Amino acid sequence: MRDVTLVRGDGIGPEVVTATMQVLEAAGAKLHWIEFKAGLNAVSEGKAVLPPDLLESFEHTGVCFKGPVTTPVGAGFSSVNVALRRRFELFANLRPVYNLPNVRSRFDNVDLVIVRENTEGLYSGLEHEVVPGVVESLKIATEKASTRIAKFAFDYASRLGRRKINVIHKANILKLSDGLFLRCARDVARNYPGVQFADTIVDNACMQLVMNPQQFDVLLLENLYGDIVSDLCAGLVGGLGLVAGANLGERHAMFEAVHGSAPDIAGKGIANPTAVMIAGEMMLRHLEQREAADRLRGALLAVYADGQHLTGDVGGKAGTEEFTKAVLSRLR
Ligand code: ATP
Repeated sequence: MRDVTLVRGDGIGPEVVTATMQVLEAAGAKLHWIEFKAGLNAVSEGKAVLPPDLLESFEHTGVCFKGPVTTPVGAGFSSVNVALRRRFELFANLRPVYNLPNVRSRFDNVDLVIVRENTEGLYSGLEHEVVPGVVESLKIATEKASTRIAKFAFDYASRLGRRKINVIHKANILKLSDGLFLRCARDVARNYPGVQFADTIVDNACMQLVMNPQQFDVLLLENLYGDIVSDLCAGLVGGLGLVAGANLGERHAMFEAVHGSAPDIAGKGIANPTAVMIAGEMMLRHLEQREAADRLRGALLAVYADGQHLTGDVGGKAGTEEFTKAVLSRLR
């Protein structure tokens, strides 16, 4: 059994995470959940947005499985996601984006991986009012973090036999910050002759992605571009219900869906749990529980290939429960 720190999250979080926990168990995963609340759920119980016992647990287990957590809007609340990523130096955000069978989408044969720098850029949260009516928001880029994420991307590409890394930037305008990010990536690329290297300006990259996404393989982006382009890429293959991500540091890893808490559909039983299930599969691979990961993946693909129990967001008629039952039936 492997201890895993668990946060079901809020909005659709509890629905999709609970569904995934059932599926993980049926796939034969050896996990022992240690559960905590965070965000709105924690605040409504009079606790801190990010309770200290959750942090202690994650420090100890090294692995966190997390549903979407809403950070209350207003002064004094900093984002739970940003805080977790920063505190545990989860510097790499890895998001594979690929087509699933029977999902209506604009493109076939999309198979790309987003590598997003998770700790710097505009997410450093350094904003201040200079004088009334004028604010400044600081975009931070360091050689250390830019080189670290570039190395991560190239190591990942080499290990998984990926052919090309495309660094996405706006170095023509942001000459210092994006210039540094691009230069570090270029320097790292020299040590990986087996992986092709290209760079594309972010606005052009967005157009290229929506016209011909198959030309891309691994995308390397700083924090904000990574956030925006992730949602765009999810849209290429059928939406936010399908794309998961790993947040990886030297000693800690956190797995979650790319989507947020989707309050518009929370409690209706219609959320698609696929993204969180794929996050579960990624976690199993990280924990080297490969057999369970393969079983989970096989069951998910079989349900999509069958196409009879898909959720509304991908063109089906099933709710969360019916979809989950279909996955479970292929695991039992
Ligand atoms: P955040 O800012 O926290 O990332 P967001 O504003 O981007 O959140 P999401 O919560 O990610 O919004 O959801 C955007 C929309 O996508 C939702 O309104 C919902 O309709 C749809 N959506 C997101 N996740 C799912 C899902 N798992 N199943 C079905 N629809 C989803």
